[in-house]
Amino acid sequence: MARALRALRGAAGAASGTGPGHGHGCGAGSDPGAGSGTTRGPRVRFGPSPTGFLHLGGLRTALYNYIFAKKHQGTFILRVEDTDQNRVVPGAAEGIEEMLDWAGIPPDESPCRGGPRGPYVQSLRLELYRGASAALLESGAAYRCFCTPRRLELLRREALRCQHTPRYDNRCRHLTPAEVAQKLSQGLDCVVRFRLEKGMEPFQDLVYGWNKHEVAEVEGDPVILKGDGFPTYHLANVVDDHYMGITHVLRGTEWLTSTSKHLLLYKALGWEPPQFGHLPLLLNKDGGKLSKRQGDIFLERFVRDGFLPEALLDIVTNCGSGFAEKQMGRTLEELISQFEIGRITTHSALLDLEMLPEFNRIHLTRHIENEGLRQRLVRELQELVKRVYGDQQADPEVLEKQYVERVLLLRKGHISLLKNLVSSDYSYLWVRPSVSRQQLQMISTEADEIGKLVLGLMTRQAAALTVEELNKDLRNLQKQTRETKYSSVMQLLRLALSGQQHGPSVAEMMVTLGPKEVSGRIHRALCS
Ligand code: GLU
Repeated sequence: MARALRALRGAAGAASGTGPGHGHGCGAGSDPGAGSGTTRGPRVRFGPSPTGFLHLGGLRTALYNYIFAKKHQGTFILRVEDTDQNRVVPGAAEGIEEMLDWAGIPPDESPCRGGPRGPYVQSLRLELYRGASAALLESGAAYRCFCTPRRLELLRREALRCQHTPRYDNRCRHLTPAEVAQKLSQGLDCVVRFRLEKGMEPFQDLVYGWNKHEVAEVEGDPVILKGDGFPTYHLANVVDDHYMGITHVLRGTEWLTSTSKHLLLYKALGWEPPQFGHLPLLLNKDGGKLSKRQGDIFLERFVRDGFLPEALLDIVTNCGSGFAEKQMGRTLEELISQFEIGRITTHSALLDLEMLPEFNRIHLTRHIENEGLRQRLVRELQELVKRVYGDQQADPEVLEKQYVERVLLLRKGHISLLKNLVSSDYSYLWVRPSVSRQQLQMISTEADEIGKLVLGLMTRQAAALTVEELNKDLRNLQKQTRETKYSSVMQLLRLALSGQQHGPSVAEMMVTLGPKEVSGRIHRALCS
């Protein structure tokens, strides 16, 4: 055993590396070795399989790990779990890391960033798994299995015929060393299986409390190293968590029953296990499985639809637990400061995605109120306007920073997505409406008089307009008409200014457009 453990340590040295990449196509701009694990706090990891896009379930697991790490000045690690090579999707690993960056929860150590306990991709750590498997073979905790796929299939069918759960019958446990040697010399294919021992000790899960699964009673001995030299998930995750110095494993509840198996592996390898905390299921609001159909829960979709990352982090934690109170609108900093692992409950988290726009509205409002974040929104909105209205724009002034900023500040709290501001309801902000005098006269025969009064108002009001002042002025203006009701005055002006029948208040429209543009639009409509 001692020799085997020495071999293990050697392998760990050989496979560790600080450089980023390790053959993975990481995007430019990553910071090699950033946050390279010098902190003393907990070390946690997110271990997705690179089989596709990151979805909300994965984001939630990553987020709780991130929050836990940051709360305790620890390290958050991204480890790509690609031991099932048949399911690997090229580019998926890079996509997942990119999405963590986008979400504002970047890993400290990862395939792209590197770190002291790398490589961070399992297919680049095969030596470590082989070393652990060799140690287990030597101590007798594991054995070689030569059963053919055909035999295993027959076992399975027989079990199903007798209405039993299929399980391996542990036949190769009983091969003598001479029989093994003979089969090896014949060049027969084999895998390595771990001997599940009975008498499992209970363990305390950080969320589910005391737990015990007598795996040996219900399962056959699991394969830990496949014929192609790749480990299975169970061995790889134990070996990696050990060598990466993981202190806390926070993962989905679907892994709770496997934890006993993992603890048996730790024991057989003579390693101290980390603490485990399993996160309850994340379900649709009606309690069904989160649907991945049509890409509706993939992060890329939310990026494309223009949601803010904070809104996603907020909704995903809001439907879950880990906080003293339910509250909308938490920032990442607030999530970190208010999170308490002891408050995670075992109740499933029910996600109501119909609420996402409302979460986004709250965070968008906060962004607009913050000077620095607002400038970013200004630039984004300018781009959106160019893209949507390109050549139809009223005049280049609508793209001026001051104008765009004014639009944002006045519409703050009314829009849930930035792109709402380039929808047809708001087209008047960017292109001049075409409204005729006749249309205005259908609302009031006093259209010309009202128009003139507004033109007068605009010259008097050349200085900064305010909504309150204008509201008063518009009330007074209506009193100067002979027979037009206030609501009709508003209807007429709204139509002249925006070509619309609904929308923000006329006073707000006037403040947004500014006196020059308001006069121009009234003038044009009346002269048409
Ligand atoms: N690769 C596993 C998954 O994608 C990770 C399980 C774990 O965190 O141990 O769910």
